[in-house]
Amino acid sequence: MILVDTHNHLYSEEYMENLDSILKEAVEAGVGVIICVAEDLESSRATLSLAEKYENVYAAIGMHPWTAIHQYDELKEITSLIRDYADHIVAIGEVGLDKKYDSGEKGWMRQVEVFKQMIELALELDKPLNIHSRRAASDVLELLKVYRVKKAHFHWFTDSEDILREVVSMGYYVSFTPSITYSKRMMRMSKMVPVKQLLTETDGPVPFYGPLKGELTRPCHVKLVYEKLSEIHGYKLEDLANEIYRNFSKLYLDIG
Ligand SMILES: [Zn+2]
Repeated sequence: MILVDTHNHLYSEEYMENLDSILKEAVEAGVGVIICVAEDLESSRATLSLAEKYENVYAAIGMHPWTAIHQYDELKEITSLIRDYADHIVAIGEVGLDKKYDSGEKGWMRQVEVFKQMIELALELDKPLNIHSRRAASDVLELLKVYRVKKAHFHWFTDSEDILREVVSMGYYVSFTPSITYSKRMMRMSKMVPVKQLLTETDGPVPFYGPLKGELTRPCHVKLVYEKLSEIHGYKLEDLANEIYRNFSKLYLDIG
């Protein structure tokens, strides 16, 4: 049984000092796959080095919507990094759109422009997208439809149930975080996603409540997500883990 954390920011400062032991702890907890998702140029470079150094770490690089707003001038370099390292990455991410805070018309236009370029690259290089869609999932969906994107993964989906239904009907993957251990809404939404489209993540080091209150979120904590999902979907933990591993292989490794 191999557990997967499909969305983690391993290069974060919070992890720096203890990264070796954090990754060892993950392996001991059965976490055999960690997808490190970048946000900007610096973290994209860091992600590539981490994937090079650690066997269980897989790289997703790209330009986050917040970076699109604040560091738009990095776009060209990130784009060439993605092309140059296409054989070293399993996905383009973390990319997408975010409407949580108002970035103004200019900020929004930058987000859309950057996301479109990330989608075009994903199609060109035949890579999946690891997507951030906070309060903008319908806009994300719209673009995925326009571009006829097939390989997409909505990380920590928090939009409406109607949009989630549409995401599911398009065949996209959806991952859940440790918030599923205490958020009734997340529990309900996870039930709406068929097991064959489910993925698991921690979004570490992002902090959580519930059993992780006051703890640094680490890849080993993805086990909590598996436990809750297996309860919700009525699966044995091991069976669910095998299904999710298969989903990961299919989407990210193009196997199966
Ligand atoms: Zn993230």
